[in-house]
Amino acid sequence: MHSGVFSEFDRACMKRALTLARRGAGKTSPNPLVGAVIARGGRVLGEGWHKRCGDLHAEAQAFEAVFSAGENPAGADLYCTLEPCCFTSPEKHQPPCTGLIIKNRIRRVVIANTDPHPRVNGKGGLALRKAGITVETGLLAEEGEELNRAFFTFQRLGRPFVHLKIAQTLDGRIAAGSSVRDCRITDEAAHRSVHRMRARHDAVLIGRGTALADDPELTVRLARGRNPVRVVLDSRLSLPLTAKLFNLPDPEKTLILCAAGAGVKRIKAVQNTGAEALPLEIPAGARGLPPAAVLSALGARGIRSVLVEGGEKIFSSFLREGLWDSLSVFIAPLILGGGVPCVSGLGIDSVAKALRPGGVKIQKIGNQILFEGKNVYRNY
Ligand code: ZN
Repeated sequence: MHSGVFSEFDRACMKRALTLARRGAGKTSPNPLVGAVIARGGRVLGEGWHKRCGDLHAEAQAFEAVFSAGENPAGADLYCTLEPCCFTSPEKHQPPCTGLIIKNRIRRVVIANTDPHPRVNGKGGLALRKAGITVETGLLAEEGEELNRAFFTFQRLGRPFVHLKIAQTLDGRIAAGSSVRDCRITDEAAHRSVHRMRARHDAVLIGRGTALADDPELTVRLARGRNPVRVVLDSRLSLPLTAKLFNLPDPEKTLILCAAGAGVKRIKAVQNTGAEALPLEIPAGARGLPPAAVLSALGARGIRSVLVEGGEKIFSSFLREGLWDSLSVFIAPLILGGGVPCVSGLGIDSVAKALRPGGVKIQKIGNQILFEGKNVYRNY
């Protein structure tokens, strides 16, 4: 139900709600990021956002703020970045917001995006309309889409949002050789940018080869934010237990995905470090761990976004399967003339068939060019 007539004040309130929603980044998953503003007569009475999974919803926070300011929300407008929820379930910690909105006699609800969750999906708006409340949807919908790209991807495609992060030379190489790396391709500014990306994703993922060659920590040290879950694809579970990933202060955040035949002894050894080894059932004849199986295992654990950090085989398999949503490529001013390519074996034999990321953005980060694009081939 779109209504094209929004005032400047409406836009300002929704912009504010989106800004508030962003404060929950990295903390609300598997829930969406939501912000809410309550206003009447051109004056904001209260605002709120969903702070973390299990906490009050944004709408309830905003009502709390209105009450603690000694105001009465009756007859006010409520701006929500996402359609208010309208159901209860044992896994859901909070009561439905539609009830709260009706009880507090809100006059009009303005929504950026409809909630694609099968138990909401327009039913929240409908419940409000039935109670005589004006409901208008679609204000700053594009910004709302971007804000909750992980949540929306999971609701629509049934898998986590996949963000590929590649650091490469001008000639598309991610390393000079496949053995231990002598130094990094990108500079400190790029590393800080990557750490900020990590803080915003539920998980980071690498292959066994990258874990061996780089011995990375995959933690957030150069930016503010919590560490994501660290996922390594290691089908034979052969990564040495001396790797940094097994020797961090939060070992429970390391998750090794392996093949079902990896062996109980190895699984036990990994688990003794405090990390987790999770065997996956793999279709017969599959080489390595198929991206689809990996994503479904991560989705089942409440992971809604994954930052894929390499290497070549991993990037190639996610691109080949079309299982990616956005792409960030840091291009460093170096030429190697050989070494490990960032991607290979996509089976593309002509420029006409090349993958062409859409929504391209280009910026300079330190000495690198950062290219960002989206997968425009997936449809939902
Ligand atoms: Zn709610």
